[in-house]
Formats: sequence, structure tokens, C-alpha cells
Amino acid sequence: MLIKECQFCGNTGAHPAAHIFPKSLLGVGPVAFKVYRMAGREPARRSQTGVYDRQLWCNDCELASAKLESYVAPYLQSLDNYKVPWRDPQGHPIEENGRALLWSVREIDAGILHRFVLSLLWRASASQREEVRGFSLGPYQARLREALRSSEANLLDPFPYIFRHEDETNLRAGYVTPFRSRYEGVRFVTLCAGGLAFDVKMSKSPVPEFCRSLICRSEGPVLVLRHSIAETGVGRLMARRFRTGR
Ligand SMILES: [Zn+2]
Repeated sequence: MLIKECQFCGNTGAHPAAHIFPKSLLGVGPVAFKVYRMAGREPARRSQTGVYDRQLWCNDCELASAKLESYVAPYLQSLDNYKVPWRDPQGHPIEENGRALLWSVREIDAGILHRFVLSLLWRASASQREEVRGFSLGPYQARLREALRSSEANLLDPFPYIFRHEDETNLRAGYVTPFRSRYEGVRFVTLCAGGLAFDVKMSKSPVPEFCRSLICRSEGPVLVLRHSIAETGVGRLMARRFRTGR
């Protein structure tokens, strides 16, 4: 245990191992998972237990974060069990070729999920771990920390997100180091964990028109968009590396 200043709350105290990429979200059992990088040609890193950082924060911050994680993990591991087709105001499901394209997640507390996703992003940005080297939220790292340190949910409003779920392929046993993405020119940061992808807005620009009906905030509902990871850059990268074993 190291005694030093907590990067999140500033208190000094023992530093436990903070989860950067928790294995619990993947639900992959007793096998190693991989952390992929979108940029560069480095091989994926394997982890049996999750990726931890002992330099990041204090015991109180870890306990608070562990509470969020243990709350959301069962929902995210078994998302199909909680998804119900979303219906438009006329009561019609949103479908494509007869398959639901948009769901809501029943029961889950939208505020806790939002806080958890933002906390993971902050940790990935603040950590000096090798797996997240080169990833930074820049000026948004400090803003996000201030918002997360408050218990007021409306401070998280500037960071809404799009939640996507891949339910078809087996490309699930890994994380992708967060990377920058854009929707109609507006900056987002994308975090992929197994078949889950969270695109979090990191911009002063308003949410682009076309995704306003998909966007999630601390005030519910939690909406999930079906996507095919195989058709994305992340999917191609993961598929290639699965094939080559790198
Ligand atoms: Zn702390």
C-alpha cells in the first residue's frame, strides 16, 4: 500500500488497486481477456484478473466505485435479459428488417449507470497504466472529475452518451482502450467493453440532431442501440487479432 495523494479526491491514505478495466463487466469466466489498442500495431495485452492501478486513488474512492460496479455488472453482463424493444410515441417498435434496433433497459438506475461509465472513462484518462498510455480526455479530465465528485446528477448532464450493444458475435472477451470518435463533427470518446460500446460526448457542441432520440443521461430511460461491431473499425481490428492470436 502506498501513502500518497488521491488523484480523485485529494485525500492522503492507502491506495488500493483501482479497477481500470474491470473483468466483472465482461462475464467471461476464468479466462484471460485482452485489451486492444485502436492505434498502433502493438499486440493486445492479456489480463487474467482485470487491469488495476495502484497509483490512482484512495480507499474511499475505490469503495464508492466498487459499489457502482457491483450494481451495474449484473445488468451489463446479462443485458439481453433486461432489454425490451423501445416503442415510439405511436407504440411502434423501432425495427430494421423485422429485428429490434432500439431497446430500453428495464429496472436499471440510469443515474448509476451514467456515473459508472463516466467514472471508467476518467480512470482510463487519469491512469498511467501501460494499457491506457496515450489516452487522455485533455481538459475534460478535470471537468469530469469535478462533476463526478459531486453527488448532483445534473452536473453529469454535459456528458451524455450513446449506448450500443453487439448481440451477435463472440468478440466479447476484451476491452478497447478508449478512443476519440465523432458524430456529425461533434467530439465523442468511445469505450468498448466486450459487446458494449459507450460513446460519451466530450464537446461543448450540442448533441447532433440525428442521435438526440438515442442519447442517455442520468435521468432515464437507458436506451440501447443494436449495432454490428463486425462492421466497425473496432470489430475489424478485434477479428483480425483474434484470428492471428495477437
Ligand atoms: Zn480518494
